[in-house]
Amino acid sequence: MTARILVVDDVPANVRLLEVRLLAEYFEVLTATSGPEAIEICEHDKVDVVLLDVMMPDMDGFEVCRILKGDPATEHIPVIMITALDQVSDRVRGLEAGADDFLTKPVNDLQLMTRVRSLVRLKTLTDELRLRAATTRDIGIEELLGSRHPNDDQIPKVLLIDEKEESARSIVQMLAGGADLDVAADPHAAVFQAAEGAYECVIVTTEFETFDPLRLCSQLRSIDRTRSLPIILIAGEGEDARIIRSLELGVNDYLVRPVDAHELLARLRTQVRRKRYNDHLRTSVTETIEMAVTDALTGLHNRRYLDSHLKTLFDRAVARRRPLSVMMTDLDRFKSINDTFGHDGGDDVLREFAARLRKNVRGIDLACRFGGEEFVVVMPDTDAAIAKMVAERIRAEIERTPFTVGADGRAVNVTISIGVSSLRHGPDRIEDLMKRADVALYEAKSNGRNRVVARAA
Ligand code: GH3
Ligand code: MG
Ligand code: MG
Repeated sequence: MTARILVVDDVPANVRLLEVRLLAEYFEVLTATSGPEAIEICEHDKVDVVLLDVMMPDMDGFEVCRILKGDPATEHIPVIMITALDQVSDRVRGLEAGADDFLTKPVNDLQLMTRVRSLVRLKTLTDELRLRAATTRDIGIEELLGSRHPNDDQIPKVLLIDEKEESARSIVQMLAGGADLDVAADPHAAVFQAAEGAYECVIVTTEFETFDPLRLCSQLRSIDRTRSLPIILIAGEGEDARIIRSLELGVNDYLVRPVDAHELLARLRTQVRRKRYNDHLRTSVTETIEMAVTDALTGLHNRRYLDSHLKTLFDRAVARRRPLSVMMTDLDRFKSINDTFGHDGGDDVLREFAARLRKNVRGIDLACRFGGEEFVVVMPDTDAAIAKMVAERIRAEIERTPFTVGADGRAVNVTISIGVSSLRHGPDRIEDLMKRADVALYEAKSNGRNRVVARAA
């Protein structure tokens, strides 16, 4: 895994020390000897993880971290704080400044590599999501996320999996007030519980008599619903091999007993914050994709979606020699509705028409707003005779029941004209099918409107 690590320390000898160890593990290394220099590099170069010394003159590590985490352009870069003192207060201050992790000097090799690797892995995932979110909407990621940041203050829902009552009780006490905690003692049932509850983190201890806790972690990683759920492992002293194995399996973080309550809370908060950020990105991607294919006014599919899916439906019908029909609809004298009730009144009619249209077609039919006051419905497995019947039913329904327009709910009579065309087996193209529906619609209009014209296959 090649990743770029930025090492920041005001003492060049310290920088060199970490640089050598990281290079030996084939990381790419950038260096800085002051806070402002580090910020500058993060803003302009691609950095995957920052190793940040706390004690620096002028601008200390806490300040640097706060600045990086406060800027949407750099907030997603994981920061590991390095403190000279093994002081809990420093660690907590660091995590409060938004640090993702911390190490104490002299830096232990196992800890350095496991923490860096695990953060690099997460960074890769976040990068991919950020990229997708930004490219689908074709705007900057900052703009996309800026206005709606996930709520970091909300108490997270956490599942603790621990077989030993006493150990579980002490963890429950530590997390009192900091987490909405459920405890599961049976590891088999716990996997289901984790998949079904809306948890934001799972804490697994190594305190099991007959069960391998790593198996549990690997199961959680293999189930879709828990794949992106953070896991924190609580291990005993001397369990280094187990810790390394667990991190390889995808466990996100670990603590070694005796557990410090502040550290546990801080690590939990970090995992939850990161999950919320990634969930937020994922939702944005989904929303963006939906927006791209949905008409904002009516909620129906838009023309772009029709263009891409009509081909699929058309090819399938041709290949299976199945019928396929298209209905092209246009509201009659819509301009006069706009003239009488204003543009907003016209919009009310379009929305209500779309709702009625959707109610009158099947789930497999593709209904979309073609543009303006024109709508198209593609009906798979539907021959010309049935399509004409469906069109006639919709036309009659629109004519029969007046529409409600405006705040005062005025009733308005609306009629529509419909052109229907059906697939001809033999040489037929999508353009021909659409053209025939269009010609039929034109005929319906010129024959007096409020009618259906079908172009027989
Ligand atoms: P015809 O029976 O021949 O179809 O007459 P028409 O007035 O419905 O047809 P025309 O195409 O001349 O006018 C359509 C009008 O629809 C013009 C346009 O301003 C209006 N329109 C298009 N999109 C919207 C929209 O999103 N909201 C509203 N309120 N009006 C729209
Ligand atoms: Mg019209
Ligand atoms: Mg029109």
